[in-house]
Amino acid sequence: MRPARALIDLEALRHNHQIARRRHGRHIFAVVKANAYGHGAIACAQALSWDADGYAVAFLDEALALRESGIKLPILLLEGVFDPAELREAARHGFWPVIHHPAQIDMIVKTALPAPLRVWLKINSGMNRAGFPPADVRRAWRRLMVSGKSEECGFISHFARADEPGCGATAEQIRVFDEATRGLPGLRSLANSAAILAWPNARRDWGRPGIMLYGADPMPEEGSELRPVMTLESQVVAIQNIPAGQPLGYGARFVAPRPTRVGLVAMGYADGYPRSVPDGVPVAVNNKLTTLIGRVSMDMLTVDLTDLPEAGIGSAVELWGNQVSVNQVAQAAGTIAYELLCNVKRVSYVWNDNR
Ligand SMILES: *Cc1c(COP(=O)(O)O)cnc(C)c1O
Repeated sequence: MRPARALIDLEALRHNHQIARRRHGRHIFAVVKANAYGHGAIACAQALSWDADGYAVAFLDEALALRESGIKLPILLLEGVFDPAELREAARHGFWPVIHHPAQIDMIVKTALPAPLRVWLKINSGMNRAGFPPADVRRAWRRLMVSGKSEECGFISHFARADEPGCGATAEQIRVFDEATRGLPGLRSLANSAAILAWPNARRDWGRPGIMLYGADPMPEEGSELRPVMTLESQVVAIQNIPAGQPLGYGARFVAPRPTRVGLVAMGYADGYPRSVPDGVPVAVNNKLTTLIGRVSMDMLTVDLTDLPEAGIGSAVELWGNQVSVNQVAQAAGTIAYELLCNVKRVSYVWNDNR
């Protein structure tokens, strides 16, 4: 069997969830959208089901998959619903949709529902991506209450720059949110991972940690008590010795500066390892750090084994995990850990649960 695997450490997931809970206090939605950021939504949700207060996903189908797997806790639909049929389905299953646009309130008013809804009204507190402008919040809330369809309405907003500690924009978003909701009854939810870690005054009734659950600190320089949940690993499957001056791989991007022992690894961009990384990105082989050399191919990549003479065919390779942080690879690829993690595909998944 091809040795490319994503090992998912569910114990580490629980550890990170406990940190999120401890930092935020009250309740947290474990954000498991996008297949739990590439970690397997059902396995992760089930692993947390003893400790969790609820979950958040982007849309209905993701929530239905969790319900079908036996998850009974509240599920927040971060992107809301897209048509009346979905709205009815959300009410039937007790999902909590986010309402971020007047057209969605029209839909609620017009649609006969099988059960009362609990909704979360999204407020645009300054990110300017989605949500009601602060001045429209009271009116939107009143329309929902008058509709008789919604038994409870919470208030939610999202930060654009919570990963920049001390950033005035976040302080301003908190102020705008509090002012827009002052005096209105209902639960509040503000903090994503970065805010849970860096903005104590963003803590409200429900936090919404995502990336921190998976052990990738959104502020990598902070020094982190989070534990990586995914190890993306494979093996050396062939060895090639090339003389100095010889090119390696597509485009001859790498040219051997010395006689070089090249390890071929069964992992490529079709598995989600980013093609955009340059030579020199760290890779661990047999628990020792070395570097990627040459362009990443669809199914393979190449690493420098010149200084690891004991490494050979079958040696374990970690692309990211406990030895190579996914943040480091993401930075080298010009992206963020979120994108790398949710792009993992085609590899076999192994979920480790020592409980
Ligand atoms: C994805 C998402 C989160 C989780 O964000 P992280 O940065 O991964 O913690 C929280 N809130 C909303 C609205 C989201 O879309």
